[in-house]
Amino acid sequence: MSQLILIVEDEPDLATTLAYNLEREGLRTRIALNATKGLEYARLDPMPDLILLDLMLPDYPGTEVCKQLKIDDRTKDVPIIVLSARTDEIDRVVAFEIGADDYVTKPYSPRELLLRVRGILKHRPVVVEQADEIRVQRLKISAGSHRVWFDESEVDLTPLEFKMLLTLAQAPGRVWTRDKLLQDVWGGFNVTSRTIDTHVRRLREKLGDGGSYIQTVRGVGYRFVSPESA
Ligand code: CA
Repeated sequence: MSQLILIVEDEPDLATTLAYNLEREGLRTRIALNATKGLEYARLDPMPDLILLDLMLPDYPGTEVCKQLKIDDRTKDVPIIVLSARTDEIDRVVAFEIGADDYVTKPYSPRELLLRVRGILKHRPVVVEQADEIRVQRLKISAGSHRVWFDESEVDLTPLEFKMLLTLAQAPGRVWTRDKLLQDVWGGFNVTSRTIDTHVRRLREKLGDGGSYIQTVRGVGYRFVSPESA
């Protein structure tokens, strides 16, 4: 299940644009047009994984919403990104003091905001329903211990290489664009397509014969396949 973002924003146009941009990136959204609804939706099941909170709301200030959420056991761990039209340093300081995780000044670029959202989400434990061990033909991956074996001999991977292999192997056959890998493996950090290609090449080299499990999809990205079953 993809992660859920609660948008607390009283300008409907802004809220829907934001929702559109987030959903395009595979996230789910819920919109609250005032503070009261914001608090209500934050506690609704399923709980949001992150809250985007406008400070200037019609019923009462976003800072109050933030405070309420941070003193409630159910919501205190949900990260909050404050959206504010004001650039005053004081607002920024106040936002962090009341427990906001990040602060974005309006007008923001959708891309910048998305990077902030991704940056925060990647530090949140994602509940992945999966067996701890993935076995595909001659390849064995232990998700829990971060170890990999090919033909029963262990392959020494960097944490990034491991993450990439695990990401690909968890969805065999699925095509990953470089953009998607950038989001899911690098957490949206600014690396070039070439960096991704270089890491894939190294990963393949380390896997030896197992390198052929990672297939290049021309002009698009990569996918994991098990050659023996193809
Ligand atoms: Ca507002």
